[in-house]
Amino acid sequence: MDKRLIATLACPLCHGRLHYHPEAAELICRNDAMAFPIRDGIPVMLASEARALTTDERLQPEN
Ligand SMILES: [Zn+2]
Repeated sequence: MDKRLIATLACPLCHGRLHYHPEAAELICRNDAMAFPIRDGIPVMLASEARALTTDERLQPEN
């Protein structure tokens, strides 16, 4: 996925910065503890499609 594209994406809920997790193909918002899926290379920036982070994921350090 294009990192320049990711840099332009903001969380649809809080408009904060997102963290790209290539292994999971997800964009993480730490503020909302939500993960937005990337399907076929297209970020799905819908709260209804996002999943809540697990407690373990919330405790992981920023990257
Ligand atoms: Zn957010």
